[in-house]
Amino acid sequence: MIDNVVSRCPTNALSLNDDDTLAVNNQDCVRCMHCLNVMPKAMSPGDDKGVTILIGGKRTLKIGDLMGTVVVPFKKLETEEDWEELVELAEEIIDFWAENALEHERCGEMIERIGLVNFLEGIDVDVDPNMIAEPRQSSYVRMDGWDDEAEKWFERQAEA
Ligand code: SF4
Repeated sequence: MIDNVVSRCPTNALSLNDDDTLAVNNQDCVRCMHCLNVMPKAMSPGDDKGVTILIGGKRTLKIGDLMGTVVVPFKKLETEEDWEELVELAEEIIDFWAENALEHERCGEMIERIGLVNFLEGIDVDVDPNMIAEPRQSSYVRMDGWDDEAEKWFERQAEA
């Protein structure tokens, strides 16, 4: 349990209680799904189901292979409006890429060149601490424009 589940949680959201039951700090969970994959019968994913959207994954061309970056950590897809928002986001990304990418440049390469913060601003998506560069490994740690974005995050939280 310690070696394969608790210590492999990327955000240390898991711990063992004194009676060896598992405690999950939901606030720290970044939904990497590792614990659920290791113990599918012991843990329940809950009713809140949806999608995580990653952009920029690619094989070698101008620069080496890239993993996709999480740009939407979680989104429900239950209603027609949810699906329409998803299509709108895809169109927004395609339009931004068509206007800003260099010749033969893929989306992941364009993001590397212009910076993730500029890309997110271009497609009108707010920076969110739940965005992670490599699911199951790293928390979202890019620091460019971090203080300003953190300020906005706290304001949104206070409003919510
Ligand atoms: S889903 Fe991932 S981040 Fe969340 S508790 Fe499980 S291992 Fe940790």
